Amino acid sequence: MKSFFVFLSIFFFLFSTTSQCKSTEFSSISFNPWQAFLNLAGCHMGSNNTFGLSYLKRYLSNFGYLPHSNEYDDKFDKTFQAAILLYQQNFDLNTTGLLDRRTIDLMIVPRCGVPDIVNGTTMMHGRRKMYSYFPTKPIWPKHHLTYTFLPNPDVPIPTTVLQTVFSRSFSRWSEATLLTFAEVKTVDEADIVLEFLKLDHGDGEPFDGMLGTLAHAFSPDDGRLHFDASELWTAVKDDAASEELFNSRAAVDLESVAVHEIGHLLGLGHSSVVNSVMYPSIRTQMRRVYLEADDIDGIQSLYGVNLDYNGTYSGTMVQDDHVGDSSSASKAVNSVIWKNLLIVVVLPLMFYLTLFKK
Ligand SMILES: [Zn+2]
Ligand SMILES: [Zn+2]
Repeated sequence: MKSFFVFLSIFFFLFSTTSQCKSTEFSSISFNPWQAFLNLAGCHMGSNNTFGLSYLKRYLSNFGYLPHSNEYDDKFDKTFQAAILLYQQNFDLNTTGLLDRRTIDLMIVPRCGVPDIVNGTTMMHGRRKMYSYFPTKPIWPKHHLTYTFLPNPDVPIPTTVLQTVFSRSFSRWSEATLLTFAEVKTVDEADIVLEFLKLDHGDGEPFDGMLGTLAHAFSPDDGRLHFDASELWTAVKDDAASEELFNSRAAVDLESVAVHEIGHLLGLGHSSVVNSVMYPSIRTQMRRVYLEADDIDGIQSLYGVNLDYNGTYSGTMVQDDHVGDSSSASKAVNSVIWKNLLIVVVLPLMFYLTLFKK
């Protein structure tokens, strides 16, 4: 009899920790609507007709993991499993091929819209962890580049602050290389144009509202950099910005995203190095503006080395682990622990007590 209860307890423990995989609906359940994907944790091959998988498929297709389609189904089939495996390889996660919690946790972190996979070829190096280029390795044919930006009334950041933030973002890259940048007044004079745009904005890469995709930029020598105007962008003149910068859980640091997107404008793809500027995802309320060794190696391989550069890349990151996406994740873990405690300890105990009374 005892061994039966041990078996029963282990069965419930395993079941409750691995098979959430619930149909999910998109509603404003939190500051981050993409957290609805958390309900899909535990889905695996054969989990069919789980409402919500089609949304995740559409989302992953934006980054090249699945072919573009007008319609996606809710079936967890071999093609979807291959997409999950490729995502896990690129982000150096355990290659389980199922929607385990770590994978889905990373998928809901806001990210850059530039695809990780282009024409079926992944640009990221996964476990080899290093910078990447766009296919055919395009670069600018000159070392002095001009830029301008077009403010948007939906993004109420003063022009002078935008000027400072963008100037500093470009200088992160010029310091390490032989590149120089100068702001100009008109689009006609500019090699690079920065804009804040919403939803479908005419380049075939529509934005998706708050969080999800934050921005995208085109490879050399296109020169277009688009920020999603639906985000709660935060920016300050002071380089040593602190946590006070972020007054909302959904706040996104404009400078961090600008430094990343300028990397694309110059010819770098995504890196699997978690702390590098060219890592595709960035949490809300997080600041990542200093080039890492991987970013420096990448950009110097394209544009040469600035011998005056002191090579430091010990940047500071401001991240509050107790807020934002991580708080809901820890709440979910706590809820699983309590649930398992109930199943493993309380229920068998009650059963024994009932038998004992008889
Ligand atoms: Zn990117
Ligand atoms: Zn665009």
